Amino acid sequence: MTETTEKIKCLIIGSGPAGYTAAIYAARADLKPVVYTGLEMGGQLTTTTEVDNFPGYPEGVEGPKMMEDLKAQAERFGTEVRFGTVTKVELSKEEGGIHRAEIDGNKWVEAEVVIVATGASAKYLGLESEQRLRGGGVSACATCDGFFYRDQDVVVVGGGDTAAEEATYLAKICNKVTLLVRRGEMRASKAMQKRVMNTPNLEVMFHTEIDEVLGDKTVEGVRVVNNQTGEKKVIDVTGVFIAIGHKPNTELFEGQLDMDESKYLITKGKSTKTNLPGVFACGDVQDKEYRQAVTAAGSGCMAALDAERYLAGLE
Ligand SMILES: Cc1cc2nc3c(=O)[nH]c(=O)nc-3n(C[C@H](O)[C@H](O)[C@H](O)COP(=O)(O)OP(=O)(O)OC[C@H]3O[C@@H](n4cnc5c(N)ncnc54)[C@H](O)[C@@H]3O)c2cc1C
Repeated sequence: MTETTEKIKCLIIGSGPAGYTAAIYAARADLKPVVYTGLEMGGQLTTTTEVDNFPGYPEGVEGPKMMEDLKAQAERFGTEVRFGTVTKVELSKEEGGIHRAEIDGNKWVEAEVVIVATGASAKYLGLESEQRLRGGGVSACATCDGFFYRDQDVVVVGGGDTAAEEATYLAKICNKVTLLVRRGEMRASKAMQKRVMNTPNLEVMFHTEIDEVLGDKTVEGVRVVNNQTGEKKVIDVTGVFIAIGHKPNTELFEGQLDMDESKYLITKGKSTKTNLPGVFACGDVQDKEYRQAVTAAGSGCMAALDAERYLAGLE
């Protein structure tokens, strides 16, 4: 049951680079944004150490520190950042309609505009050793972390297009890449498979899964198992890249916002507009292509500008 309802102008769901950047722009445009952070305050970058490719940090920056900076910048212009999770939404289909969001199952907010920035979570294998060594050699993003493994040996896990792309990308940086494919063939497109097979320092092992990631504080190797024969062997590597897909955080919007076949939110043309007036989406939740902090931040800016123009158009 509803306990209280609060009226606000601009609700931002999510506190990653997209949400905080949307907040900076929305606050400066006097939309008085309220950000609900979700359980992962600061988003995915709080799970990583060094971020080397976000413009403006010539020496690199720790992920959590960068997200603290973005939060402080949003707050400087009056953004209210609240720790809480949106548990339900009732989005209006009408131009100028009021959108309702339930917070932590016990309170509702009513907003004139909503900016969805709930991100997409990388899928992991679920091994204890993999989780323990996340940030210590286990990564889900070759573009982000590949540079740290220059001239070293790494494995990539996965058989789809993303895995093929990550493996060939890493092959340009690393000494040797071993691609571990669970099935007897890859799901990647024929063109991508060809690229994989034509890369000299890239070896593919089919029917192969990780049994355990080895190492105490950092990765020292992986023990793999052939799922046909049961044979196990150790591969000495310093990096393990998991490339088995992402899951956009969109369950909340099921049946209300248009999604593609992988459940990413669909935005119109080059804008951040969703199928509903006054609801905008930015960051990884609507982007399965680039998935970088800077692109998420860029689309957060776009969402705030789209929201501002939408409200101005109503007046
Ligand atoms: C280990 C790792 C390292 C990375 N390194 C880099 C790097 O070096 N450089 C780079 O550019 N990119 C890097 N990335 C990618 C980058 O983190 C993402 O592209 C970026 O964080 C996406 O931003 P976002 O704001 O769209 O979503 P996210 O950062 O995923 O944030 C989503 C936010 O939504 C919130 N949320 C979700 N559901 C709800 C809800 N129901 N209610 C309220 N809030 C909700 C979450 O709590 C979170 O705050 C890395 C990713 C990982 C996993």
